[in-house]
Amino acid sequence: MKLLFERSVPGRRSTLLPPCSTPDAPLPEDALRKSPAPLPQLAEIDVERHYTELAKQTYGVNDGFYPLGSCTMKYNPSINEELAALPGFTGIHPLQPEDTVQGSLEVIYETTNLLEKITGMDAMTLQPAAGAHGEYTGLLLIRAYHRHRGDTTRSKIIVPDSAHGTNPASAVMAGFTVVNIPSDDKGCVDLEGLRAAVGPDTAGLMLTNPNTVGIFDPNILEITRIVHEAGGLCYYDGANLNAVMGMARPGDMGFDCIHLNLHKTFSTPHGGGGPGSGPVGCKDFLAQFLPTPVVVKNEKGYAFEAPANTVGKVRSFYGNFLVVVRALAYILSLGKEGIPAAAQGAVLNANYLMKRLADLGYDMAFPGSCMHEFVMDLSNLKKETSASAMEIAKRLLDYGIHPPTMYFPLIVHEALMVEPTETESKETLDEVAEIFGKVLEEAKADGARLHGAPFCTPIGRPDEVNAARKPVLRWQP
Ligand SMILES: *Cc1c(COP(=O)(O)O)cnc(C)c1O
Repeated sequence: MKLLFERSVPGRRSTLLPPCSTPDAPLPEDALRKSPAPLPQLAEIDVERHYTELAKQTYGVNDGFYPLGSCTMKYNPSINEELAALPGFTGIHPLQPEDTVQGSLEVIYETTNLLEKITGMDAMTLQPAAGAHGEYTGLLLIRAYHRHRGDTTRSKIIVPDSAHGTNPASAVMAGFTVVNIPSDDKGCVDLEGLRAAVGPDTAGLMLTNPNTVGIFDPNILEITRIVHEAGGLCYYDGANLNAVMGMARPGDMGFDCIHLNLHKTFSTPHGGGGPGSGPVGCKDFLAQFLPTPVVVKNEKGYAFEAPANTVGKVRSFYGNFLVVVRALAYILSLGKEGIPAAAQGAVLNANYLMKRLADLGYDMAFPGSCMHEFVMDLSNLKKETSASAMEIAKRLLDYGIHPPTMYFPLIVHEALMVEPTETESKETLDEVAEIFGKVLEEAKADGARLHGAPFCTPIGRPDEVNAARKPVLRWQP
């Protein structure tokens, strides 16, 4: 596809504005360009066609099935977009006096309240702009708590190897040392490993639950008990709350602190880097450390307030506010019945698809039922046919569906991680199962052929390492 610069024709123009009647205000000489900027010269139709072509080459939830495991790529109801676009929300300034933005403060206050109820927490901040940012914020609370008690020996955060990769990274960024503990053969926390890891230097544990292999840890109460008995705090990575919301509350499982991903579970479109929102909830005893400000309600209405021993700010102003508006719209439109029904649908859909793919001959990494996602282990397929998880994923593109997450989690070899979400119908899941079946047959018939897949997409196999490490983001004449 040609770039705008390559379509440029000298002298071609789109604007039809009349000559300006205002006299030019001359800029100082040293602020002037020495030569005109090398901008592409195009007619409006060239620009329209360029962006339309680009739009057709992208793929989103509104195009089709998007089972990117760990990302919860569910459909986002358009009513949320309409509400987030209301001028009363988009036209305000973050430095406006509180009494002129009471409605928006109410949105923050109400969303906070509802999310506290859903998670079983007592207080919350909506400031973090992403899940990993929430982890970092939660860990700052844990650090502040230990310091506040004068305990400076607790420098270690325990992270099971089935955690999301952001967990150890956030712990290091917050100044902790990471202690990795292994999973057992069912993909859950190894209790003996945990008992051996805790001690007087334990600041806390970070647990992704359901974990990255889609399993709800059956020993969760024992896990939080072991950590608490050692004097540590328990952090719940709630990015996967889609599996449990309205059904079970991390606060009731013994967790002191949690983050959510509004841009996964609470229906904000995501991908491509934002905007997102990673609220952090905590129990009462940690509320004094929350980032400032939080919104409180008093006799005059809503107001900002700084928590007593706040860790400060983790982001400018109040976070990505319009993502919060979408979340509130989503929670209120689903209601008390709809929230657990969505979680049940997510788990049902994942189990249905897992069973269908297992019946077709795909190997599952862990036996038994799953929560909202499941992981396949294609090591045997690769051995027998030379077609790896990569080949299966690439070939799926030719059939018009987005591939699952590949080669994650790291504890499974040749992993494909599938998260269908609750917004897919049985008909779609059946069609998808058929496509997976076809691709498996193709792999078995001629595995080598699939090394060339995809055959029908605009780009086949980009050099992924170079694309990530040395991206070419600038056009050079
Ligand atoms: C997505 C995810 C994160 C990170 O969220 P970001 O918004 O991408 O920073 C953390 N933990 C889990 C389990 C996740 O699935």
